[in-house]
Amino acid sequence: MKEIVVQKFGGTSVADTDKIKNVARAVIREKNLGNDVIVVVSAMGHTTDILTKLAKEITPNPSSREMDMLLSTGEGVSIALLAMALQAQGCKAVSMNAMQVGIITEKIHSKARILEIKTERIREHLDNGEVVVIAGFQGITEDFEITTLGRGGSDTSAVALAGALGAKRCDIYTDVEGVYTTDPRIVPCATRLEQISYEEMLELAHAGANVLHPRAVETAKQYQTPLRVRSTFKLDNLGTLILGVEQMELHKPVTGVASDLSQLRIVVCDVKDNPGTAAVLFDGLANENISVDMIIQSYARKDLNTNDIAFTIDKNDLARTKTILEKLKPELEYSNVFVDDTIAKISIVGAGMIDRPGIAAKMFRTLASLDINIKMISTSEIKISCLVDQARANDAVEALHKIFGLDCDEIAEVKGDLPDV
Ligand code: ASP
Ligand code: MG
Repeated sequence: MKEIVVQKFGGTSVADTDKIKNVARAVIREKNLGNDVIVVVSAMGHTTDILTKLAKEITPNPSSREMDMLLSTGEGVSIALLAMALQAQGCKAVSMNAMQVGIITEKIHSKARILEIKTERIREHLDNGEVVVIAGFQGITEDFEITTLGRGGSDTSAVALAGALGAKRCDIYTDVEGVYTTDPRIVPCATRLEQISYEEMLELAHAGANVLHPRAVETAKQYQTPLRVRSTFKLDNLGTLILGVEQMELHKPVTGVASDLSQLRIVVCDVKDNPGTAAVLFDGLANENISVDMIIQSYARKDLNTNDIAFTIDKNDLARTKTILEKLKPELEYSNVFVDDTIAKISIVGAGMIDRPGIAAKMFRTLASLDINIKMISTSEIKISCLVDQARANDAVEALHKIFGLDCDEIAEVKGDLPDV
């Protein structure tokens, strides 16, 4: 039996008909290597944004069911056009939407999770020698309601299909050449990584590097599907391979540096230092589906029996968070709430920092040498994040990238051969 490769092409890769023809060439090239090929595509260019705008012109609060009906049409266009382009280039191909495949999701509109993927119909087409072009981003509930997986969800569609079909690899084709040690727009001598682990990629995604949808990386990790991020426009370039940390050789403590400007900090002052205070506060936020990232509770002053609790949220959740805090005021009895929206979260990520003491100290020393004040700190096994003033974010990234040996020419010597997957 042939092995299966899943290829995913994002909106910029299928933005116009010439680009769709180019994608068809990339698909045929993979097929000619002797693989069975499944292709997952996003909507053309900015289609999803344009459709969203149309809906907002009708009403500021469209129902999420109708939004899913609307947005799912975008991918319907690109699958049909790509199947036509493949056929026109002499390649047997068929397009399928999520309903035809059986991509079953939860009954939640606009951010559903995939529960199950039926593979029979896909396999029939593959056995027939066809390339199967599948609509990303969309799903169907058990009672035939159309759902979508959340913005950027086509990555997740592709990876879930690769997992369900036992594909040997999932290639995410995009307009960048891979995953970089940091954003090349901030640090021009950023290096493309040959490899990175799922764990590091997840931390980087949560730290603000927008290369892949985090849920796609989680799914790939769960199925242990090797992922490749590569350029649609430079097909000879192998991009970055994402795989299990066990398969990697860790040369450096830090793999990447990320900067996230999407959050703001909230400080709730003088709440009671009692069991249950934090639970009330964060239950209130969780019940409204507001994700909290960093949390700091200050040392309680015994004389006052109060605490300050500071946390960060996405900027878009500010209005809702304020409403909740207002509602909880009688219970929390806080004195004041401060909002700081000029922060940046700077993170260093690397599986190689496990069991290597001194990495955090080196990060703090580097920031101090630039006279950058740290407002909050959080750590995981493979990540250290510092909240700093937004105006100094790029200085911080640049300096950390350099001190941890990620600038281009310093990393060159550790590049090895790519493993054959
Ligand atoms: N078309 C959808 C979006 O723009 C899904 C995707 O591109 O992954 O969010
Ligand atoms: Mg997209």
